[in-house]
Amino acid sequence: MDDTKKKTNTAWRPQTNMVRGGTLRSQYGETCEAIYLTSGFVYDSAEQAKASFMGQDDHFIYSRYSNPSVAMFEERMKLMEGTKFCQGTASGMGAIFAALACQLKAGDHLVASRALFGSCDYVCTVLMPQYGVRVTMIDGTDLNQWEKALSQPTNMVFMETPSNPTMEIIDLEAVAKMAHKAGARVVVDNVFATPCLQRPIALGADIVVYSSTKHIDGQGRSLGGAILFNDEEYWEKHLRMFIRHTGPTLSAFNAWLQLKGLETLELRVARHCDNALKVAQFLEGHAGIGKVIFPGLDSHPQRALIKKQMQGPGSVIAFEVMGDEARVFRFMNAMKLIDISNNLGDSKSLMTHPATTTHQRTGPEGRAKLGISDQLVRLSIGLEDVEDIKDDLEQALKA
Ligand SMILES: *Cc1c(COP(=O)(O)O)cnc(C)c1O
Repeated sequence: MDDTKKKTNTAWRPQTNMVRGGTLRSQYGETCEAIYLTSGFVYDSAEQAKASFMGQDDHFIYSRYSNPSVAMFEERMKLMEGTKFCQGTASGMGAIFAALACQLKAGDHLVASRALFGSCDYVCTVLMPQYGVRVTMIDGTDLNQWEKALSQPTNMVFMETPSNPTMEIIDLEAVAKMAHKAGARVVVDNVFATPCLQRPIALGADIVVYSSTKHIDGQGRSLGGAILFNDEEYWEKHLRMFIRHTGPTLSAFNAWLQLKGLETLELRVARHCDNALKVAQFLEGHAGIGKVIFPGLDSHPQRALIKKQMQGPGSVIAFEVMGDEARVFRFMNAMKLIDISNNLGDSKSLMTHPATTTHQRTGPEGRAKLGISDQLVRLSIGLEDVEDIKDDLEQALKA
Protein backbone atom coordinates (compact mmCIF):
# COMPACT_ATOMS: atom_id res chain seq x y z
CA MET A 1 0.00 0.00 0.00
CA ASP A 2 3.11 2.10 -0.17
CA ASP A 3 2.36 4.25 -3.20
CA THR A 4 5.32 6.61 -3.37
CA LYS A 5 8.04 4.05 -4.13
CA LYS A 6 6.34 2.26 -6.99
CA LYS A 7 8.10 2.13 -10.34
CA THR A 8 5.11 1.91 -12.59
CA ASN A 9 4.54 3.68 -15.86
CA THR A 10 0.82 4.36 -16.10
CA ALA A 11 0.95 4.19 -19.89
CA TRP A 12 1.99 0.54 -19.94
CA ARG A 13 -0.42 -1.92 -21.46
CA PRO A 14 -1.90 -4.69 -19.28
CA GLN A 15 0.55 -7.48 -20.14
CA THR A 16 3.52 -5.20 -19.44
CA ASN A 17 2.03 -4.35 -16.06
CA MET A 18 1.67 -8.06 -15.31
CA VAL A 19 5.44 -8.48 -15.82
CA ARG A 20 6.74 -5.20 -14.39
CA GLY A 21 3.97 -3.38 -12.54
CA GLY A 22 4.59 -2.47 -8.91
CA THR A 23 8.25 -3.53 -8.81
CA LEU A 24 10.17 -1.99 -5.89
CA ARG A 25 13.84 -2.39 -6.77
CA SER A 26 16.30 -2.21 -3.88
CA GLN A 27 19.72 -0.49 -3.87
CA TYR A 28 21.23 -3.77 -5.17
CA GLY A 29 19.46 -3.52 -8.51
CA GLU A 30 18.11 -7.07 -8.57
CA THR A 31 16.38 -8.17 -11.81
CA CYS A 32 13.83 -10.36 -10.08
CA GLU A 33 11.75 -8.83 -7.30
CA ALA A 34 13.21 -9.47 -3.83
CA ILE A 35 11.60 -11.47 -1.03
CA TYR A 36 11.45 -9.36 2.12
CA LEU A 37 11.18 -11.99 4.84
CA THR A 38 11.05 -9.68 7.81
CA SER A 39 8.45 -9.14 10.48
CA GLY A 40 9.46 -5.58 11.31
CA PHE A 41 11.42 -2.60 9.97
CA VAL A 42 13.97 -0.28 11.57
CA TYR A 43 13.75 3.50 11.61
CA ASP A 44 16.56 6.01 11.07
CA SER A 45 15.38 7.95 14.10
CA ALA A 46 12.72 8.15 16.76
CA GLU A 47 11.30 11.05 14.78
CA GLN A 48 10.85 8.83 11.72
CA ALA A 49 9.12 6.17 13.83
CA LYS A 50 6.75 8.82 15.17
CA ALA A 51 6.04 10.19 11.68
CA SER A 52 5.44 6.65 10.34
CA PHE A 53 2.86 5.93 13.02
CA MET A 54 1.19 9.26 12.32
CA GLY A 55 0.91 8.31 8.65
CA GLN A 56 3.22 11.19 7.62
CA ASP A 57 6.03 8.91 6.40
CA ASP A 58 5.53 5.95 4.05
CA HIS A 59 8.10 3.82 5.89
CA PHE A 60 7.00 0.21 6.39
CA ILE A 61 5.97 -0.36 10.02
CA TYR A 62 5.25 -4.03 10.58
CA SER A 63 4.52 -6.92 8.19
CA ARG A 64 1.04 -7.49 9.63
CA TYR A 65 0.19 -4.06 8.14
CA SER A 66 2.30 -4.11 4.99
CA ASN A 67 5.54 -5.49 3.57
CA PRO A 68 7.48 -4.63 0.40
CA SER A 69 6.98 -8.07 -1.24
CA VAL A 70 3.27 -8.01 -0.42
CA ALA A 71 3.04 -4.39 -1.62
CA MET A 72 4.50 -5.42 -5.00
CA PHE A 73 1.91 -8.18 -5.34
CA GLU A 74 -0.90 -5.82 -4.33
CA GLU A 75 0.23 -3.13 -6.76
CA ARG A 76 0.40 -5.59 -9.67
CA MET A 77 -3.04 -6.96 -8.79
CA LYS A 78 -4.46 -3.42 -8.70
CA LEU A 79 -3.02 -2.64 -12.13
CA MET A 80 -4.53 -5.82 -13.52
CA GLU A 81 -7.96 -5.37 -11.97
CA GLY A 82 -8.00 -1.61 -12.53
CA THR A 83 -8.81 -0.72 -8.91
CA LYS A 84 -7.46 1.83 -6.45
CA PHE A 85 -7.09 -0.60 -3.57
CA CYS A 86 -5.84 -4.15 -3.08
CA GLN A 87 -5.35 -6.01 0.17
CA GLY A 88 -3.44 -9.29 0.04
CA THR A 89 -4.52 -12.00 2.48
CA ALA A 90 -3.22 -15.34 3.74
CA SER A 91 -5.76 -17.36 1.73
CA GLY A 92 -8.86 -16.98 -0.40
CA MET A 93 -11.03 -17.63 2.63
CA GLY A 94 -9.09 -14.99 4.55
CA ALA A 95 -10.02 -12.54 1.77
CA ILE A 96 -13.68 -13.54 1.66
CA PHE A 97 -14.19 -13.56 5.42
CA ALA A 98 -12.42 -10.22 5.86
CA ALA A 99 -14.35 -8.64 2.96
CA LEU A 100 -17.65 -9.50 4.64
CA ALA A 101 -16.82 -9.41 8.36
CA CYS A 102 -15.10 -6.02 8.28
CA GLN A 103 -18.40 -4.38 7.47
CA LEU A 104 -21.30 -6.60 8.58
CA LYS A 105 -22.65 -6.27 12.11
CA ALA A 106 -25.53 -7.71 14.13
CA GLY A 107 -28.89 -6.81 12.56
CA ASP A 108 -27.45 -6.30 9.07
CA HIS A 109 -28.79 -8.16 6.03
CA LEU A 110 -26.61 -10.25 3.70
CA VAL A 111 -27.98 -11.78 0.49
CA ALA A 112 -25.88 -14.53 -1.11
CA SER A 113 -26.21 -16.94 -3.97
CA ARG A 114 -26.57 -20.54 -2.85
CA ALA A 115 -24.08 -22.17 -5.21
CA LEU A 116 -20.87 -21.33 -3.33
CA PHE A 117 -17.49 -22.85 -2.57
CA GLY A 118 -17.97 -25.02 0.57
CA SER A 119 -16.16 -22.72 3.02
CA CYS A 120 -17.97 -19.63 1.66
CA ASP A 121 -21.23 -21.45 2.32
CA TYR A 122 -20.09 -22.05 5.93
CA VAL A 123 -19.22 -18.36 6.39
CA CYS A 124 -22.62 -17.26 5.04
CA THR A 125 -24.91 -19.88 6.59
CA VAL A 126 -23.19 -20.64 9.92
CA LEU A 127 -20.74 -17.91 10.96
CA MET A 128 -22.61 -14.77 9.87
CA PRO A 129 -25.89 -15.78 11.57
CA GLN A 130 -23.82 -16.54 14.69
CA TYR A 131 -22.83 -12.84 14.70
CA GLY A 132 -26.44 -11.75 14.33
CA VAL A 133 -26.35 -11.03 10.60
CA ARG A 134 -29.62 -11.91 8.82
CA VAL A 135 -28.75 -14.02 5.80
CA THR A 136 -30.91 -14.77 2.75
CA MET A 137 -29.57 -17.52 0.46
CA ILE A 138 -31.08 -17.67 -3.03
CA ASP A 139 -30.70 -19.31 -6.43
CA GLY A 140 -28.33 -16.82 -8.04
CA THR A 141 -29.41 -17.64 -11.59
CA ASP A 142 -33.00 -16.52 -10.88
CA LEU A 143 -33.32 -12.71 -11.09
CA ASN A 144 -36.81 -12.89 -9.51
CA GLN A 145 -35.27 -14.33 -6.34
CA TRP A 146 -32.71 -11.52 -6.26
CA GLU A 147 -35.46 -8.95 -6.70
CA LYS A 148 -37.47 -10.43 -3.85
CA ALA A 149 -34.49 -10.75 -1.48
CA LEU A 150 -33.31 -7.22 -2.32
CA SER A 151 -36.74 -5.66 -1.81
CA GLN A 152 -35.67 -5.10 1.82
CA PRO A 153 -32.70 -2.95 2.85
CA THR A 154 -29.49 -4.94 2.42
CA ASN A 155 -25.93 -4.25 3.51
CA MET A 156 -23.98 -6.72 1.42
CA VAL A 157 -24.44 -9.10 -1.50
CA PHE A 158 -22.08 -12.02 -2.05
CA MET A 159 -21.89 -14.29 -5.07
CA GLU A 160 -19.66 -16.58 -7.04
CA THR A 161 -19.87 -16.83 -10.83
CA PRO A 162 -19.17 -19.23 -12.49
CA SER A 163 -20.06 -21.28 -9.43
CA ASN A 164 -18.33 -24.31 -7.99
CA PRO A 165 -18.84 -27.03 -9.15
CA THR A 166 -21.90 -26.69 -11.41
CA MET A 167 -20.75 -23.69 -13.49
CA GLU A 168 -23.88 -21.62 -12.89
CA ILE A 169 -23.62 -18.04 -14.15
CA ILE A 170 -25.04 -14.99 -12.39
CA ASP A 171 -25.93 -11.83 -14.32
CA LEU A 172 -23.49 -9.48 -12.57
CA GLU A 173 -24.77 -6.27 -14.15
CA ALA A 174 -28.42 -6.94 -13.32
CA VAL A 175 -27.74 -8.05 -9.74
CA ALA A 176 -25.37 -5.13 -9.04
CA LYS A 177 -28.08 -2.65 -10.11
CA MET A 178 -30.69 -4.22 -7.81
CA ALA A 179 -28.20 -4.53 -4.95
CA HIS A 180 -27.24 -0.85 -5.14
CA LYS A 181 -30.90 0.16 -5.00
CA ALA A 182 -31.18 -1.88 -1.80
CA GLY A 183 -28.13 -0.06 -0.38
CA ALA A 184 -25.74 -3.00 -0.56
CA ARG A 185 -22.08 -3.36 -1.44
CA VAL A 186 -21.59 -6.17 -3.97
CA VAL A 187 -18.80 -8.70 -3.34
CA VAL A 188 -17.90 -11.12 -6.16
CA ASP A 189 -15.76 -14.24 -5.78
CA ASN A 190 -14.03 -14.21 -9.19
CA VAL A 191 -11.81 -17.27 -8.68
CA PHE A 192 -13.21 -19.47 -11.45
CA ALA A 193 -13.06 -16.69 -14.06
CA THR A 194 -9.70 -15.20 -13.01
CA PRO A 195 -8.96 -11.50 -13.67
CA CYS A 196 -8.24 -12.45 -17.30
CA LEU A 197 -11.75 -13.65 -18.15
CA GLN A 198 -14.20 -11.49 -16.18
CA ARG A 199 -14.16 -7.91 -14.86
CA PRO A 200 -16.80 -7.68 -12.14
CA ILE A 201 -15.98 -4.04 -11.24
CA ALA A 202 -16.70 -2.93 -14.82
CA LEU A 203 -20.04 -4.75 -14.56
CA GLY A 204 -21.01 -2.89 -11.38
CA ALA A 205 -19.54 -4.92 -8.52
CA ASP A 206 -17.91 -3.04 -5.64
CA ILE A 207 -15.45 -5.60 -4.32
CA VAL A 208 -13.70 -8.51 -6.07
CA VAL A 209 -12.14 -11.33 -4.07
CA TYR A 210 -9.65 -14.00 -5.17
CA SER A 211 -8.08 -17.10 -3.88
CA SER A 212 -4.64 -16.51 -5.42
CA THR A 213 -3.94 -20.11 -4.38
CA LYS A 214 -5.64 -21.07 -7.64
CA HIS A 215 -4.66 -19.75 -11.10
CA ILE A 216 -2.60 -16.80 -9.80
CA ASP A 217 -0.08 -19.07 -8.10
CA GLY A 218 -1.20 -21.66 -10.60
CA GLN A 219 1.41 -24.25 -9.67
CA GLY A 220 0.02 -25.61 -6.43
CA ARG A 221 2.72 -24.09 -4.24
CA SER A 222 1.13 -21.56 -1.92
CA LEU A 223 -2.02 -20.15 -0.34
CA GLY A 224 -3.05 -16.55 -0.80
CA GLY A 225 -5.91 -14.19 -1.45
CA ALA A 226 -6.74 -10.64 -2.48
CA ILE A 227 -9.52 -8.08 -1.98
CA LEU A 228 -9.81 -5.40 -4.69
CA PHE A 229 -12.03 -2.31 -4.83
CA ASN A 230 -12.25 1.44 -5.51
CA ASP A 231 -14.41 2.40 -2.55
CA GLU A 232 -12.37 4.72 -0.29
CA GLU A 233 -14.95 4.63 2.51
CA TYR A 234 -14.85 0.83 2.60
CA TRP A 235 -11.05 0.98 3.01
CA GLU A 236 -10.93 3.74 5.60
CA LYS A 237 -13.95 2.80 7.66
CA HIS A 238 -13.92 -0.98 7.47
CA LEU A 239 -11.19 -3.06 5.84
CA ARG A 240 -7.98 -1.26 6.79
CA MET A 241 -8.43 -1.54 10.53
CA PHE A 242 -9.94 -5.04 10.31
CA ILE A 243 -6.84 -6.38 8.52
CA ARG A 244 -4.39 -4.53 10.75
CA HIS A 245 -5.91 -5.73 13.96
CA THR A 246 -7.02 -9.27 13.12
CA GLY A 247 -3.97 -10.37 11.09
CA PRO A 248 -5.09 -12.47 8.07
CA THR A 249 -1.93 -11.18 6.38
CA LEU A 250 -0.31 -12.62 3.24
CA SER A 251 3.23 -13.89 3.91
CA ALA A 252 6.05 -12.19 2.00
CA PHE A 253 7.21 -15.50 0.54
CA ASN A 254 3.77 -16.43 -0.79
CA ALA A 255 3.29 -12.88 -2.11
CA TRP A 256 6.54 -13.27 -4.04
CA LEU A 257 5.50 -16.63 -5.55
CA GLN A 258 2.19 -15.16 -6.64
CA LEU A 259 3.78 -11.96 -7.94
CA LYS A 260 5.87 -14.18 -10.23
CA GLY A 261 2.71 -16.14 -11.08
CA LEU A 262 1.10 -12.96 -12.40
CA GLU A 263 3.85 -12.62 -15.02
CA THR A 264 2.57 -15.74 -16.83
CA LEU A 265 -1.08 -15.67 -15.76
CA GLU A 266 -2.50 -14.56 -19.10
CA LEU A 267 -0.49 -17.17 -21.04
CA ARG A 268 -1.45 -19.94 -18.65
CA VAL A 269 -5.14 -19.04 -18.52
CA ALA A 270 -5.31 -18.96 -22.33
CA ARG A 271 -3.83 -22.49 -22.47
CA HIS A 272 -6.09 -23.69 -19.63
CA CYS A 273 -9.12 -22.45 -21.62
CA ASP A 274 -7.97 -24.04 -24.91
CA ASN A 275 -7.27 -27.38 -23.26
CA ALA A 276 -10.53 -27.32 -21.28
CA LEU A 277 -12.67 -26.61 -24.36
CA LYS A 278 -11.06 -29.51 -26.23
CA VAL A 279 -11.61 -31.88 -23.30
CA ALA A 280 -15.23 -30.71 -22.81
CA GLN A 281 -15.94 -31.32 -26.52
CA PHE A 282 -14.33 -34.77 -26.24
CA LEU A 283 -16.46 -35.67 -23.20
CA GLU A 284 -19.76 -34.33 -24.57
CA GLY A 285 -21.64 -37.17 -26.20
CA HIS A 286 -18.92 -39.71 -25.28
CA ALA A 287 -20.19 -43.19 -24.36
CA GLY A 288 -20.39 -43.59 -20.57
CA ILE A 289 -20.64 -39.83 -19.96
CA GLY A 290 -23.87 -38.07 -19.02
CA LYS A 291 -24.24 -34.32 -19.06
CA VAL A 292 -21.17 -32.11 -19.46
CA ILE A 293 -21.26 -28.61 -17.98
CA PHE A 294 -18.69 -26.14 -19.29
CA PRO A 295 -19.14 -22.41 -20.00
CA GLY A 296 -17.47 -22.80 -23.42
CA LEU A 297 -19.96 -25.36 -24.76
CA ASP A 298 -23.00 -24.21 -26.75
CA SER A 299 -25.02 -26.67 -24.66
CA HIS A 300 -24.52 -24.53 -21.52
CA PRO A 301 -28.00 -23.19 -20.72
CA GLN A 302 -26.64 -19.67 -20.07
CA ARG A 303 -24.47 -19.35 -23.16
CA ALA A 304 -25.79 -15.86 -24.09
CA LEU A 305 -24.98 -14.46 -20.65
CA ILE A 306 -21.53 -16.12 -20.72
CA LYS A 307 -20.77 -14.40 -24.04
CA LYS A 308 -21.95 -11.09 -22.60
CA GLN A 309 -19.93 -11.03 -19.38
CA MET A 310 -16.98 -13.42 -19.80
CA GLN A 311 -14.01 -13.26 -22.15
CA GLY A 312 -13.32 -16.99 -21.97
CA PRO A 313 -14.74 -20.21 -20.52
CA GLY A 314 -12.26 -20.98 -17.72
CA SER A 315 -10.56 -24.25 -16.87
CA VAL A 316 -13.10 -26.27 -14.88
CA ILE A 317 -15.47 -28.86 -16.35
CA ALA A 318 -18.23 -30.69 -14.47
CA PHE A 319 -19.59 -33.92 -15.93
CA GLU A 320 -21.55 -36.99 -14.93
CA VAL A 321 -20.22 -40.52 -15.20
CA MET A 322 -23.01 -43.04 -15.84
CA GLY A 323 -23.43 -45.51 -12.98
CA ASP A 324 -23.37 -45.58 -9.19
CA GLU A 325 -20.75 -44.27 -6.77
CA ALA A 326 -18.70 -47.46 -7.13
CA ARG A 327 -18.56 -46.97 -10.90
CA VAL A 328 -17.57 -43.30 -10.55
CA PHE A 329 -14.82 -44.20 -8.05
CA ARG A 330 -13.55 -46.97 -10.37
CA PHE A 331 -13.30 -44.39 -13.18
CA MET A 332 -11.41 -41.93 -10.94
CA ASN A 333 -9.09 -44.61 -9.55
CA ALA A 334 -8.22 -45.74 -13.09
CA MET A 335 -6.75 -42.30 -13.91
CA LYS A 336 -3.01 -42.57 -14.65
CA LEU A 337 -2.17 -38.93 -15.40
CA ILE A 338 -4.97 -36.88 -13.86
CA ASP A 339 -4.63 -36.71 -10.06
CA ILE A 340 -7.44 -37.03 -7.54
CA SER A 341 -7.32 -33.70 -5.68
CA ASN A 342 -9.82 -31.06 -4.58
CA ASN A 343 -7.56 -28.18 -5.65
CA LEU A 344 -8.10 -26.37 -8.98
CA GLY A 345 -6.47 -23.85 -11.29
CA ASP A 346 -3.21 -25.83 -11.13
CA SER A 347 -0.85 -26.61 -14.02
CA LYS A 348 -1.63 -30.27 -13.28
CA SER A 349 -5.07 -31.66 -14.20
CA LEU A 350 -6.99 -32.53 -11.03
CA MET A 351 -10.24 -34.40 -10.50
CA THR A 352 -12.59 -34.49 -7.55
CA HIS A 353 -15.95 -36.04 -6.63
CA PRO A 354 -17.82 -33.10 -5.03
CA ALA A 355 -20.60 -35.16 -3.40
CA THR A 356 -18.13 -37.04 -1.16
CA THR A 357 -15.51 -34.31 -0.68
CA THR A 358 -16.03 -30.55 -1.15
CA HIS A 359 -19.82 -30.79 -0.78
CA GLN A 360 -20.09 -33.70 1.66
CA ARG A 361 -21.12 -31.31 4.46
CA THR A 362 -23.92 -29.91 2.26
CA GLY A 363 -25.97 -33.12 2.72
CA PRO A 364 -28.12 -34.93 0.11
CA GLU A 365 -30.94 -32.32 0.14
CA GLY A 366 -28.58 -29.38 -0.22
CA ARG A 367 -26.71 -31.15 -3.01
CA ALA A 368 -29.96 -31.89 -4.85
CA LYS A 369 -30.79 -28.15 -4.73
CA LEU A 370 -27.38 -27.34 -6.21
CA GLY A 371 -27.56 -30.03 -8.90
CA ILE A 372 -24.64 -31.99 -7.43
CA SER A 373 -25.48 -35.63 -8.12
CA ASP A 374 -23.51 -38.68 -6.97
CA GLN A 375 -22.40 -39.08 -10.61
CA LEU A 376 -20.92 -35.59 -10.88
CA VAL A 377 -17.16 -35.24 -11.25
CA ARG A 378 -15.27 -31.93 -11.33
CA LEU A 379 -12.22 -31.74 -13.54
CA SER A 380 -9.75 -28.85 -13.39
CA ILE A 381 -7.83 -28.90 -16.65
CA GLY A 382 -4.09 -28.30 -16.43
CA LEU A 383 -1.36 -27.36 -18.85
CA GLU A 384 -0.36 -30.86 -19.99
CA ASP A 385 -0.65 -31.81 -23.69
CA VAL A 386 -4.39 -32.01 -24.23
CA GLU A 387 -4.04 -35.31 -26.13
CA ASP A 388 -2.55 -36.95 -23.04
CA ILE A 389 -5.47 -35.66 -20.91
CA LYS A 390 -7.97 -37.08 -23.40
CA ASP A 391 -6.08 -40.40 -23.64
CA ASP A 392 -6.18 -40.72 -19.85
CA LEU A 393 -9.94 -40.10 -19.71
CA GLU A 394 -10.49 -42.54 -22.58
CA GLN A 395 -8.56 -45.39 -20.93
CA ALA A 396 -10.22 -44.74 -17.53
CA LEU A 397 -13.70 -44.86 -19.08
CA LYS A 398 -12.87 -48.32 -20.45
CA ALA A 399 -11.73 -49.57 -17.04
C1 LIG B 1 -10.41 -22.18 -3.40
C2 LIG B 1 -11.54 -21.25 -3.40
C3 LIG B 1 -11.78 -20.41 -2.31
C4 LIG B 1 -10.93 -20.46 -1.06
O1 LIG B 1 -9.60 -20.15 -1.28
P1 LIG B 1 -8.39 -20.67 -0.35
O2 LIG B 1 -7.21 -20.00 -0.91
O3 LIG B 1 -8.38 -22.15 -0.45
O4 LIG B 1 -8.71 -20.22 1.04
C5 LIG B 1 -12.85 -19.56 -2.38
N1 LIG B 1 -13.66 -19.52 -3.45
C6 LIG B 1 -13.47 -20.32 -4.52
C7 LIG B 1 -14.39 -20.23 -5.67
C8 LIG B 1 -12.40 -21.21 -4.54
O5 LIG B 1 -12.21 -22.01 -5.59
